[in-house]
Amino acid sequence: MHDLGIVGAGPAGMAAALAVADMGFSVIVVDEQARAGGQIFRRPPEAWGERHGVYRPYAWARDLIERFEDHPKITAAFRATAFGVLRGNDKDDRASLELAVSSPDGGQRVSARRLLLATGAYDMPVAFPGWTLPGVMTAGAIQSLIKSQKLLSGKRVVLAGSHPIQLILAGQLLDAGADIVEIALARDLPGLKEMARGLPAVPGHVSIFTEAVRALSKIMRHGVPIRWRTVVSEATPEDTGLRVRLETVDPSWLGTGESHLHEADILVLGYGFTPSTELARQAGCEMKWDSAGGGWTVLHDARFQSTAPDIFVAGEPTGVAGAERAWAEGHIAGLFIAASLGAKLDDRALSHSTRRLIRAGRFSDVMQTMFEPKRKALAELSRQDETVICRCEEVRNRQIEDALQNNPFIQSVNAVKLECRSGMGVCQGRYCEGTVAARIGNAREASIEASGYYNAHLPVKPVALQVYRDISKD
Ligand SMILES: Cc1cc2nc3c(=O)[nH]c(=O)nc-3n(C[C@H](O)[C@H](O)[C@H](O)COP(=O)(O)OP(=O)(O)OC[C@H]3O[C@@H](n4cnc5c(N)ncnc54)[C@H](O)[C@@H]3O)c2cc1C
Repeated sequence: MHDLGIVGAGPAGMAAALAVADMGFSVIVVDEQARAGGQIFRRPPEAWGERHGVYRPYAWARDLIERFEDHPKITAAFRATAFGVLRGNDKDDRASLELAVSSPDGGQRVSARRLLLATGAYDMPVAFPGWTLPGVMTAGAIQSLIKSQKLLSGKRVVLAGSHPIQLILAGQLLDAGADIVEIALARDLPGLKEMARGLPAVPGHVSIFTEAVRALSKIMRHGVPIRWRTVVSEATPEDTGLRVRLETVDPSWLGTGESHLHEADILVLGYGFTPSTELARQAGCEMKWDSAGGGWTVLHDARFQSTAPDIFVAGEPTGVAGAERAWAEGHIAGLFIAASLGAKLDDRALSHSTRRLIRAGRFSDVMQTMFEPKRKALAELSRQDETVICRCEEVRNRQIEDALQNNPFIQSVNAVKLECRSGMGVCQGRYCEGTVAARIGNAREASIEASGYYNAHLPVKPVALQVYRDISKD
């Protein structure tokens, strides 16, 4: 049995692993990617012979990754998916906590005295006619291909979204040789007052702003048009790629009816990020609604302990707040986990990381407020009868609409799921939960929070049946 099991080798998981391993405890880290780094520090495959990727503007990433990879008390399992948390009693009748893991070698149970869920975030899905077509991709997918495979997925690119990641990504796409047709941003150009409110974000984050300015000047040098108050409203297949309709919106992001068309090879969506919380839900952790932080987040205390016994959480599942904050949360969680395992709490390290957490929080608070997506307006893009809402079960808008009209007492995403199967497929609702919840909110004139979240069941991610046989043999 390990002292600590961690899911996720991003900045949060790595920082926690080091804090606990440095105290002499054994740590196992499970990650479905091929190498440590998480979303932000994604690297080319090991076989290419490059130990590091490009980490700008995070100078501390190199040291973090090297210390993590070289630490004798840390065992890392890559290409390994944690698909459930199991509780029970071991053969000596002591309470046990286990991760159900699927890897290329089959299934296994990983036992640990404590668990830390540092599972990151994924791109926020937005449903509109054509969003499931080949060529319609998310910012995360495009960035992963560039960072890990040095691959450009198409030449002519339209970017549509509202998150500043779109500007950074546009810079990376231009470097990779793409022709960017247009960047369509849903929000308005920030005014002077809003910029002034954002000033507290600057101290300690000059390098991040420098990176953004660098990307913006590249965009301007290439003459790429940026259109504000514009959302994507439709994509249709063409012989040579996609036809993308972009629609002008009012300040609340509702369509004005005015639109224009572009032809492109790929359409990149970047409306924000959703915390990856399915494992926490399945493990019984209580959730908390935080729209600016990405939606449903994991409720935790100041030690980053969740409401489920012995399960801690750090990084994006507590709210999408960037790499620096993820590192600080992971480190603080690690210090408290080590203390819960019997080590003396390292007060100096704790106050150092707390200062870093507060500084990172000043940045993330501004970013979250400035770029919070208007979820209810975006959900209205899925209004046409045949628009797919749940792509796994192919549930279309017409069925959601009928369920809501015919059953006036339906108030929750789980009730819609029972009525028309949305969220019942292999992704367990990761793609449709936000749209269904916002559509219920619009139909019932209620908050999105009131629609709740899908229950998560084991396996939280698809695994082969063989894996079940393996874990039941143990
Ligand atoms: C596309 C994209 C671009 C981003 N760009 C920036 C940026 O420029 N600047 C910035 O500050 N932040 C950016 N972010 C936010 C970024 O996610 C965080 O800053 C940072 O990576 C968060 O660290 P983390 O450790 O919480 O999660 P992550 O770095 O996302 O790490 C989570 C890890 O958990 C693993 N994992 C998840 N579930 C499982 C499971 N069930 N089993 C096994 N492994 C699992 C994943 O494979 C991943 O490696 C971006 C996020 C995305 C999605």
